[in-house]
Amino acid sequence: TKTIFSGIQPSGTPTIGNYIGAMRQFIPLQEEFNCFYCIVDEHAITVPQDRLQLRKQTKSLAALYLAIGLDPEKATVFIQSEVSAHAEAAWIVQCNTTIGELERMTQFKDKSAKNGKAGVSAGLLTYPPLMVADIILYQADLVPVGEDQKQHLELTRDFVERFNNRYGNNNAILTLPEVHIPEAGGRIMSLQDPTKKMSKSDENQKGFISMLDEPKVIRKKIKSAITDSSGVIEYDKENKPGVSNLLTIYSSFTNESIDTIVKRYEGVGYGQFKEDLAEAVVAVLEPIQQRHDELLASEELDLILDKGAEEARLVANKTLRKMKNAVGLGRKR
Ligand code: ATP
Ligand code: MG
Repeated sequence: TKTIFSGIQPSGTPTIGNYIGAMRQFIPLQEEFNCFYCIVDEHAITVPQDRLQLRKQTKSLAALYLAIGLDPEKATVFIQSEVSAHAEAAWIVQCNTTIGELERMTQFKDKSAKNGKAGVSAGLLTYPPLMVADIILYQADLVPVGEDQKQHLELTRDFVERFNNRYGNNNAILTLPEVHIPEAGGRIMSLQDPTKKMSKSDENQKGFISMLDEPKVIRKKIKSAITDSSGVIEYDKENKPGVSNLLTIYSSFTNESIDTIVKRYEGVGYGQFKEDLAEAVVAVLEPIQQRHDELLASEELDLILDKGAEEARLVANKTLRKMKNAVGLGRKR
């Protein structure tokens, strides 16, 4: 059976973008495949984090994973920093990746643009090698992510081919992973600037809906989402990016096609459309929030994360040993 790996950063509370683009995919996959779902806290510290807040967000994200329907009996749910192989493998990856490759990554360019090279951590540049490590340690065949991670997945594939070539003597030490991006909803845009992707670390809270936003906050944020002045509800990404983004969200939360929704709102204004959209989002998120709160208060969560880390270590350490042997680190084991 195939192996799946994916991760979310506890750099905030997941947004509906993270949910539609990535997390939602995790649920059906656990029925068929060998799944590893990670809370990538080491990625989160590539930008400054408050330590108490980070800890809180880490556990909250774990609770959210379970609240959306991940079953710890079927999938392995764990925290990245509790499996030390990630940081160790990342070093080997870094030493087999060029600075040029990393400086070409658009996420690095975007996230460092504001502060300049002197104002960002070296970790922001070496984030993709850590992500490569995350994926290869589990010998993942498939990585379900949003569209923004496509370039990092290409880097991962380049690395795997290079590593196997350099050290493998024609046998594949590492598995070449495929990227899995949803056909619709792979890139949900900011509610305040529909040319920018929705991000949980956006300073402007109105740009995203977090999965733990209260219903009244959700309603307010959708109401104030940027649209346009034409008043016509139709899907046209180029000329009507705001409305198109809302249509994508609507369709994702109701499982109706965009065509069906567009037909229903013929001659209806943005006000009604937004009200209905807000209710559709609330209807999905409210029960998730309730389960999240229950799990966070339970002792079960820690036990699940302990078990997850143990399972993950077993697999990750095996690959790490292979990598060390391939490169010539330490004594042969
Ligand atoms: P940050 O701003 O801290 O980078 P983020 O919102 O980009 O946070 P990540 O933890 O970096 O979230 O990404 C988690 C997953 O969610 C990845 O698979 C990523 O591709 C996906 N994702 C992130 N933003 C979106 C979006 N706007 N639409 C769809 N998928 C997204
Ligand atoms: Mg991101």
